[in-house]
Amino acid sequence: MTENKSDWGINTKLNHPREVKLLPGNKPILQPIYQTAKFSPSEDYPYSEQFIYSRISNPTLRQLELTLADLQKKEDCIVLASGIAAVSGTLLALLRAGEHMITFRELYKPARVFIRDFLPRYNIESTFLSLKNLSEIERQIRPGLTKLIYFESPSNPNLTVADITELSRIAKKFNLLLVMDGTFGGPHQHTEFNIDVVIHSLTKYANGHGDIIAGSVAGNKELVKKIKEFAGYFGATLDPHAANQITRGLKTYNLRYQRQSQSALEIARQLQNHPKVKNVIYPGLESHPEYKLSQSQMKDNGGIIAFELKEDTIDAQKFCHRLKMIQFTASLGSTETLICPTLLFFGLDLNENERNEMGINNHSLRLSVGLEDPKDILDDLENGFSAR
Ligand SMILES: *Cc1c(COP(=O)(O)O)cnc(C)c1O
Repeated sequence: MTENKSDWGINTKLNHPREVKLLPGNKPILQPIYQTAKFSPSEDYPYSEQFIYSRISNPTLRQLELTLADLQKKEDCIVLASGIAAVSGTLLALLRAGEHMITFRELYKPARVFIRDFLPRYNIESTFLSLKNLSEIERQIRPGLTKLIYFESPSNPNLTVADITELSRIAKKFNLLLVMDGTFGGPHQHTEFNIDVVIHSLTKYANGHGDIIAGSVAGNKELVKKIKEFAGYFGATLDPHAANQITRGLKTYNLRYQRQSQSALEIARQLQNHPKVKNVIYPGLESHPEYKLSQSQMKDNGGIIAFELKEDTIDAQKFCHRLKMIQFTASLGSTETLICPTLLFFGLDLNENERNEMGINNHSLRLSVGLEDPKDILDDLENGFSAR
């Protein structure tokens, strides 16, 4: 075919749009979005160092990965199409059939279901313990078979704070990989701990605007490489446009997280004194069961509050329906305040004992505080309290 593009027919021209080149030194302030599935390689460099196919790598995704690695003080990071792809992809990449892992009942429900109900299909077994009883871990380690400890801190939905120093001590002693889902604390926290792999649902605080589903996995180069190799076949690739939106969301991440933490503390204190509230769990309240631990581990307390209505009030589901500004929905870490009944959203797979142990019942709620004025959030909660 001729190089002279002016000779091309219009259908050829439409399918090879004209390239607009910038002069050397004339730079866009923001990196363009590489909204392309494929790249053509140069003869002058090794193919392994070039971008070829966006399922494997893409510059817009790479920009987000490097930003997230910096924020988390980790050597490397990979982004995936959802937080749960980060969870399932990491576990499938790091474990083999016949191996065993230790985890905890205090987990985000889809993670718990994946580990409990799906991993056994691949002959990967798990033991579920309580985050409040780490002394049980050593007894449950199966020599030669147990490879990994997986935990959340604070846990979803009821904000149990894990003793990360103790978990990393045990992991090191028995040569286990320590994997944490740190979504509630956000990617700026817990960076000083010795955690091998840190997972985040970027859907929540990182993106922050509630319009993207995404996840990340950070760790040392060797572990991230292992997960990246697997991810190429797992195929849960993030779209470049979505990655760019998250890079943008991260610019205000610290401002949002701090403001949401401040508002949440104010709201948690008010809830604690409310005559219709039985119990409030918030890492910044002295009444939190692991208050000392949370204050030593977390710089910011976060925007999520778990609370329980008294039994003689309406149930949690009705409470959510009576609110006018606060949205009754899943998810958290958005600019809008969100609320959900914890039993309906996170407890239906648990038996009575497990629900009691985890404080999940007909009257329990999870509130994710947004960027609205705290007074308006409190006023709207009154619409729930005063309803019958
Ligand atoms: C939401 C969430 C996930 C899953 O993330 P998605 O982006 O919805 O797939 C995993 N872990 C925790 C703690 C979460 O809150």
